[in-house]
Amino acid sequence: METLEKLIKSEIKTKGPMDVATFMGLALGHPKHGYYMTRDPLGAQGDFTTSPEICQLFGEMISVCIIEAWMRAGKHDVHLVELGPGRGTLMADILRTAKNAQVFLERITVHLVETSPTLRKAQAEKIKPHTAIWHNSVDTLPTDAPLLIIANEFFDALPIRQAIMTPRGWQERGIGMEGDKLVFTSIPTRHTLPPKQLGAIMEFSPARDAVMTTIAKRLQKQGGMLLALDYGHDIPNAVGDTFQAVRKHQYTSPLENIGESDLTSHVDFAKLAQIAQAEGCNIFGPVTQKYYLETMGIQTRLNNLIAHDPKNGFLANDVARITDANGMGTLFKVLAISGQVNSCPLNPSGFQNLS
Ligand code: SAH
Repeated sequence: METLEKLIKSEIKTKGPMDVATFMGLALGHPKHGYYMTRDPLGAQGDFTTSPEICQLFGEMISVCIIEAWMRAGKHDVHLVELGPGRGTLMADILRTAKNAQVFLERITVHLVETSPTLRKAQAEKIKPHTAIWHNSVDTLPTDAPLLIIANEFFDALPIRQAIMTPRGWQERGIGMEGDKLVFTSIPTRHTLPPKQLGAIMEFSPARDAVMTTIAKRLQKQGGMLLALDYGHDIPNAVGDTFQAVRKHQYTSPLENIGESDLTSHVDFAKLAQIAQAEGCNIFGPVTQKYYLETMGIQTRLNNLIAHDPKNGFLANDVARITDANGMGTLFKVLAISGQVNSCPLNPSGFQNLS
């Protein structure tokens, strides 16, 4: 039987070691065997969970943020876009919350950028009675109106490359074979980076940079904003290996059970912000997820829900989890960027009081 592992091994045997980005792209996105293509990986029965899956108030806060920005900008027709919508829970929560803003619902078209056929089906079900237009990439998003884009745990799934400091200088980190076993190795591709200690790893993601460049150019031209939430850091030129695999809620080796575990890396928000700024966009944050959700009023919303019906008390634990100062609340960061277009300067709430 053809498996992803066999396929990758035979490619390495014929062509030599494979760089991390190629490996990650195949493991996650191979049309037949790729991790996201074949399953719904989310939730307790799956491999990992996310903020919108944990708590409905996450999507409610994002909905309020988007609607407020849209109102301040003059209530134009807009495209509401989500990148990597998973099960569609976040978009469903955003649209449910927007019931209180009917005019907004009348002015939007929903677009979902999703490569997985399995997840596209789940999304279509989840957002009913609303409908959406699906895209394989940001390139085909419409050009005729401002874009309001949300991305939660999307950028961390895009392939990264790694440079590793070896006795021969910086080289490309790759995956090769020792006997019949897959192992990390280095490929003699030159990288001109400042010298570091042996074994140091620096990460970069041409795929992520390309998506950010496209979005920033579009926002400058069409107006609108992007709200990106992800596991990541704000340290320029950070050193460290953040390439990781998670299966059934446990860390595992990226080189085992290929196509059966979620592969991610930490998002370099400093780099994303730098790209957007170079295109002329406004930058907000990154701030921690805790700061953003609390500034958006998540505690007040929680208290109101509990006052309305004490059965909502269970939500307190979920809010505590996604705003935990020692966990998701600080590991996750929120970055917003908006276009400079005069008719539609969509500046988001949730980033106030920052110098
Ligand atoms: N945003 C969701 C799911 C995050 S999982 C949540 O917060 O629950 C990552 C999502 O990105 C999945 O929907 C996956 O299929 C999608 N994805 C991964 N790589 C992609 C790519 N290159 N293009 C489009 N979607 C991608």
